[in-house]
Amino acid sequence: MSLKQPQFEKVYDIIGVGIGPFNLGLAAMLDETGGKEALFFEKKTEFNWHKGMLIDGTTLQVPFFADLVSMANVKSKYTFLNYLQEHNRLYHFYFLENFHIPRKEYNHYCRWTASQLNSCRFGMGVEQILPVENGDVPLYEVIVRSEETGETETYYTKHLAVGIGTSPSVPSHLEKKLGTKVIHSSQYLDRKEELLNARSITVVGSGQSAAEVFYDLAQHQDNDSYSLNWFTRSKGFFPMEYSKLGLEYFSPDYTDFFYKLSPSKKDDLLQKQDLLYKGISMETIADIYDLLYEKSVGQQKPDIHLQAMTELVSLEKKADTHMLSLRQNVTGDVFELESDVVILGTGYSPSFPHFLMNMQESIEWDHKNRYQITHDYRLQTKDLENNHIFIQNGELHTHGVGAPDLGLGAHRNAVIINKLFEKEIYSVSHKNVFQNFGLEPSWNPTTVH
Ligand SMILES: Cc1cc2nc3c(=O)[nH]c(=O)nc-3n(C[C@H](O)[C@H](O)[C@H](O)COP(=O)(O)OP(=O)(O)OC[C@H]3O[C@@H](n4cnc5c(N)ncnc54)[C@H](O)[C@@H]3O)c2cc1C
Repeated sequence: MSLKQPQFEKVYDIIGVGIGPFNLGLAAMLDETGGKEALFFEKKTEFNWHKGMLIDGTTLQVPFFADLVSMANVKSKYTFLNYLQEHNRLYHFYFLENFHIPRKEYNHYCRWTASQLNSCRFGMGVEQILPVENGDVPLYEVIVRSEETGETETYYTKHLAVGIGTSPSVPSHLEKKLGTKVIHSSQYLDRKEELLNARSITVVGSGQSAAEVFYDLAQHQDNDSYSLNWFTRSKGFFPMEYSKLGLEYFSPDYTDFFYKLSPSKKDDLLQKQDLLYKGISMETIADIYDLLYEKSVGQQKPDIHLQAMTELVSLEKKADTHMLSLRQNVTGDVFELESDVVILGTGYSPSFPHFLMNMQESIEWDHKNRYQITHDYRLQTKDLENNHIFIQNGELHTHGVGAPDLGLGAHRNAVIINKLFEKEIYSVSHKNVFQNFGLEPSWNPTTVH
């Protein structure tokens, strides 16, 4: 790859792209570690955690210990407990007796943390990153555009941390149908007020987001009197795994076990693990059921229809409504339904960062054209071994189901910081759970596959 020779003023140790919980946690941990010049860019003008889904009454799906820092360092000043103390809320939380804090409070806690970090710059979108050389020293050139002025600025750094999260995912045949009345669940609150005027609303999907949107709409239905449908092509509206031994899959131990498997074994396993992280929480299912029960008291028949095993095959705009064609996948029956509004709770998926497009040749790709990532979360490259590109939450295919989990963010950042310093700044424990995922070290395999 040919490298251009720019003018250098200041060189950072690490520049982070995106300020979601994972890079915000890295910024907080680096702030306390000291010794490295770090800068983080976020294109949004302020921190907001999935703003379109901050629905009243929703909570984190993980215990509050999954804050930005605690699982790596409970003594940090950026813990959730310190946030509570600083806001004089410790007793409120103590009497609440609930590990699952409101999503709104998690967002407020993250905003409180971000407001204390000089390394975090908002309203700055990273447009392009290129490898360059300062004399013989290889660096990255980072081109950033201000959302306010539209002007670009250029920065130089030794290492990068890509924390751009995942993007709303919509089945390809529905992408062109998106508009003001056909939306992804990530936009729900931005559109909610106008959507409530509809005569009929259809929610699609059976993950946590679809369930939360359905529940919210079912609660509003009495005031706004729309017909409400909920379809999923999955086999049912099933709960996400939340048993204590099931939760142990979201541990550094399982990540280590998974990382060592062959790519084909990883793909096989991931396909069978949907309900570890894709279903609906038991509480939300119970809330929905209780509401349906109450609405049906006294032979009432609420205008609500739930149906699993049923796929949205096509959607056509018809005057001021939409004609949906749906198929019951088990019986094969196809039927049509009118719906003014359609909300797609069809999940999120990782995408390749567009600002690294010019570096594609340097990246090691697997047989399915996915970038490869080292055990310590570095993008595997052919010629940039001293300039790391850390990837946060883009490593489901290499590290397994824990990649998007908030409870593993601080651990991943501890590993990243240790690599950045090339010494152990944070101790990383390797035996954190009761069960074994592979063999006990003292057991010898008797068969070799
Ligand atoms: C509604 C919802 C609820 C969830 N709840 C939970 C939960 O309770 N527990 C759990 O464990 N997980 C949960 N998750 C999963 C996951 O942990 C979160 O999505 C989490 O926000 C991921 O953090 P992140 O830092 O990877 O990305 P994000 O939070 O998506 O942040 C990425 C940021 O990068 C910015 N960005 C992107 N490109 C650029 C660029 N070029 N330049 C500058 N900035 C850029 C984006 O604007 C964005 O702000 C939830 C996910 C969703 C969608």
